[in-house]
Amino acid sequence: MPEMARFRAKHGSLEERPDDAVASILHVDMDAFFVSVELLERPELRGKAVVVGGRPDQRGVVTAASYEARKFGVHSAMPLRTAGKLCPHAVFLDGHHEKYGLWSDRVATILAKFSPIVEMVSIDEAYLDLAGTERLHGPPLAAADKLLRMITRTTELPCSAGLATTRLVAKVASDQAKPRGLVWVAPGQEAGFLAPLPVRKIPGIGEVTERALRALGIETVEQLAAVAPEKLEKIFGQWGDALYRKARGGDSYEFVIDAEPKSISHNHTFGEDTNDDESLHSLLSHLSQKACKRLREAGLAARTLTLTIRYAGFDTHTRAKTLSEPTRLDADIFRVFQSLFAEHRDRKRKIRLLGVALSGLTHGAAQLDLLDPERRERMEKLTRAADKLRDRFGFGKVQFGGSLRADGSSSEHEE
Ligand SMILES: [Mg+2]
Repeated sequence: MPEMARFRAKHGSLEERPDDAVASILHVDMDAFFVSVELLERPELRGKAVVVGGRPDQRGVVTAASYEARKFGVHSAMPLRTAGKLCPHAVFLDGHHEKYGLWSDRVATILAKFSPIVEMVSIDEAYLDLAGTERLHGPPLAAADKLLRMITRTTELPCSAGLATTRLVAKVASDQAKPRGLVWVAPGQEAGFLAPLPVRKIPGIGEVTERALRALGIETVEQLAAVAPEKLEKIFGQWGDALYRKARGGDSYEFVIDAEPKSISHNHTFGEDTNDDESLHSLLSHLSQKACKRLREAGLAARTLTLTIRYAGFDTHTRAKTLSEPTRLDADIFRVFQSLFAEHRDRKRKIRLLGVALSGLTHGAAQLDLLDPERRERMEKLTRAADKLRDRFGFGKVQFGGSLRADGSSSEHEE
């Protein structure tokens, strides 16, 4: 998508911003979208607690909740039963995803009238660049106001928006604007706008980072922005750079890691199903090392290791092991995958795919020192040296014993 590339290149960082910058990035976000669409046909439920996803005695999860239901602690992804307990007087409705898709398209059609550069990032959320559209719609703030009115008039669906110099600030602004609001953050006001907010309000900062920051006594964006970049990098690795930038309202596309990773995984599908011990073991080692390297680059350690084995015919088995302490060491992690594989593999069947996943991710290496500190130190050193070589020569060149020779005969993908 060339338009998206342009969009990203243009607003890569705050430092490159010229002095006469205008806030032209608009983040539009529909308010409680699924609920709002359902209410188009049930207007009598407006202003009431409404939960979409199914009945409270069903097994599924909440897909959306009205603001009235949210006041009782109901939120999406929560089991319907829990929602029923928290808010028994709510009206529970089934979801209709095709309908949401149709309304999303209608909104997208309106957005396209306001800028040639629109990036829908989910079914109810989009970024627009309003730069250069003045002749048609006036300055960005006027255009944003006109756009929100047009959406509300045409669809009767409530929405909010944030207008700022970067995508990150625009997204935080639209969240602050909800419901039915527009927040404009003028150029130069980014840091002041973000300062009082809890760090969790920053897109990409999740529960894990929030917890790690709280342990350091950091709760607000202002406190985060006051930490030296060297310190953040020491604690969080590459993710520390992104945090430093985010605390100042900057986007961070130049980093692979724009959001805190929830899990790291690598899969490999064989060109031809195989039962060959040597190929299988070397592949397992290769996947394990690749995942470990990404883990370390993100400054993380993992506690739960999951192995996926897919046999011919798409029969897929996953087995997980949770360690007592998180680790980031190749040798530890590979040993677990090896034993999971040995234990659960059906030797009589040919294997189509192997996959490894690391989850239960935590920041900081403090926990790593609890067990056999000397050995850990030695291993960490060795691993760091190997990572350096890998960066210099490409991943295929430096591997610990027994891993796969890349033969290019099959495909591999990350999830
Ligand atoms: Mg929304």
